[in-house]
Amino acid sequence: MRESPYPMVSVDHALASILRHVAPLPAAAVLLPDALGLVLAEDLRAPADQPPFPASIVDGFALRVADGAAPRRLAGEQMAGVVAGIVVEPGAAVRITTGAPIPPGADAVVMVERADELDGLVTLHWGQELRPGLGIRPMGADVLAGQQVLAAGQALGPAELGMAASLGLSSVPAHRRPRVGVFSTGDELMPPDQPLGPGQIYDSNRPSLLAAVAQAGGQPIDLGIVRDRPGELEQALAAGLAAADLLVTSGGVSMGELDLLKPLLAGWGQVHFGRVRMKPGKPLTFATLPARQTDGAIDPGQPARPIFALPGNPVSALVTFHLFVRPAIRRMAGHAAVSLPQVIATLGQPFPLDPERPEFHRVTLRRAEGRFVARSTGSQASSRLLSASGADGLLVLEQGEGVAPAGAERPVLLLDDAWLAA
Ligand code: AMP
Ligand code: MG
Repeated sequence: MRESPYPMVSVDHALASILRHVAPLPAAAVLLPDALGLVLAEDLRAPADQPPFPASIVDGFALRVADGAAPRRLAGEQMAGVVAGIVVEPGAAVRITTGAPIPPGADAVVMVERADELDGLVTLHWGQELRPGLGIRPMGADVLAGQQVLAAGQALGPAELGMAASLGLSSVPAHRRPRVGVFSTGDELMPPDQPLGPGQIYDSNRPSLLAAVAQAGGQPIDLGIVRDRPGELEQALAAGLAAADLLVTSGGVSMGELDLLKPLLAGWGQVHFGRVRMKPGKPLTFATLPARQTDGAIDPGQPARPIFALPGNPVSALVTFHLFVRPAIRRMAGHAAVSLPQVIATLGQPFPLDPERPEFHRVTLRRAEGRFVARSTGSQASSRLLSASGADGLLVLEQGEGVAPAGAERPVLLLDDAWLAA
């Protein structure tokens, strides 16, 4: 009987080990159009007040409150984007547009819906007492000079990028997007659009994992299909160690004759664990290997590269990706929250428990009476991608005897954060 030399570690132990070996990538100036989803590396402060001048909030007439309700003489126009140089004298009003600087002398703006202008005379229909500041956004009302507006560690979404642009910046200091190399291993694997020979199957892991990398915020690098030959694996590994910050492979880590990856990783670097107590995904292997230069020589100037050798079965590859690779990518990208978000769900049916390993059962969710109800996606065979397709989450089932009964509550790891708002 063949026995793995690797002790079986728990999911928590595996994740802790991974997070010990990955660190946020250095920061660089990233142009705003390329920065969506990246994490800010430095606090940003406003160099000046916003707005930088008292501005009109409405289209209307800038005037003096002290003139009361009486009609005003129209003294000119103040549009946004210019300084017209008009002073609002007593008894006068100036036509003004939204965002235009308030002309000197004026202390309120009455909106055009509440005023008429005829033959140079402005009549107000305000109906209440005018008060200074009406219709005016004072200097610094939105942001004060020196105020911190974005914090290191903040993820950059549309509002944050707009905020940076409002400070006059074309780029932001952000953690680089991790470059993640992905290759599939297996003599049976074929690329798409070609007829399958006897014993062959299409390589589904590469497209699936490349997409998962992009979804996790990494920059995917396709390193192709690699045959189960030591030389080819070494070549692919060396190329990946030069091109990527992190590598993800699939296949070749079980107990078969051609499962060559683990010994190779152990020879080239350090294997931190080679088996995890979980279903699916037991053969998951995590290692760190020295970075390489493009000529294949070890690159001492670069940090060691984390490598995830995922099991070949398509569902095992995806589940282990979500649980372990995603956190590594997000940590490298500078995120504080790295794991899948979790909710508590009520079981919509009984779920059998595995006596030896905790299971990450693919489920759909629905909302009923303020609770999440989880149902199985059907047969959980680790080859059956249909169990993952359409799944909303991974139901975490403890190892045990018998079943978790319908109506019981269990955690579900969400594959789509939109459920958090549900
Ligand atoms: P392995 O981990 O290499 O022993 O592979 C386990 C199972 O997953 C086998 O049935 C393989 O044919 C299948 N498999 C491995 N790699 C892939 C892949 N890239 N795409 C689809 N199936 C795969
Ligand atoms: Mg294989």
